Amino acid sequence: MKGIFNNTYLGARESSGPDDLVLLGCPLDATSSFRGGTRFAPESVRRASWTLETYSPYLKLDLEDVLFRDEGNLELRQGDLGYSLDLIESASAEIAGRGGRALILGGEHLITLPILKAVKGVHGPIQVIHFDAHCDLRDEYEGQKLSHATVMKRVKELKGLEIASIGVRSGTRQEFGELVQAGSPHELAARLKRREPVYLTFDLDVFDPSLVPGVTTPEPGGLFFNEIMEYFRVLQGMNVVGADIVELSPDYDTTFVSSIAAAKVAREILMLMYLSKKGQARG
Ligand code: MN
Ligand code: MN
Repeated sequence: MKGIFNNTYLGARESSGPDDLVLLGCPLDATSSFRGGTRFAPESVRRASWTLETYSPYLKLDLEDVLFRDEGNLELRQGDLGYSLDLIESASAEIAGRGGRALILGGEHLITLPILKAVKGVHGPIQVIHFDAHCDLRDEYEGQKLSHATVMKRVKELKGLEIASIGVRSGTRQEFGELVQAGSPHELAARLKRREPVYLTFDLDVFDPSLVPGVTTPEPGGLFFNEIMEYFRVLQGMNVVGADIVELSPDYDTTFVSSIAAAKVAREILMLMYLSKKGQARG
């Protein structure tokens, strides 16, 4: 490992190797209701990653062994939502279509919709694990059908996806009526089908805002890092075909810890995806 900061995520290589594992920034910042700033997230996560070690004591793996490439950011047009969502979908379809796996750094949560359209198009039925403080199941929000607050409703409408939500503590009575929760790692383990592909969507506001205040919509009463790692432990060996980390608004946290937490989650997810590919290879 060269000990220099080079504007890519820690440990990224020139080539992703046979595993075709990539990191891609999708800095969409268009529909946030309370406050924005998610367009600055991917760069902040990359910078924060250089404070981490390449070794994960949780998964007992080193990024030195995980071949992945950092593909930089998509050039979105913040004022043209249709264009941006189409670009995210086609980029995701290209990666999934060649048998690759992407960890996508948002951006706001709405990016999960075009990504999942693409990933589902390639993989068929998928189990979606949704980490979030919010249900995101509104039918529309501020007059918009496409919003960070409606994204899981739109995802549900794609059909063929099973969603399990973790850490949710905010929503309307109606949204909670629709929500399917995995209330503990044990419950998640009981719900997961070993053979079906998994997609992870990680809204950083699932964390308690005392740890991660740099999000668009902080919500007290959240989870802490070690609790998240307990859920990740359940996902070890599952076939994780894609993932996103969304809603980081780095400039609201002058301590930089929010970006570091996001970068650390990214390291663990990259490793989970690497382990998935190995598991697939073993058959
Ligand atoms: Mn949220
Ligand atoms: Mn969300």
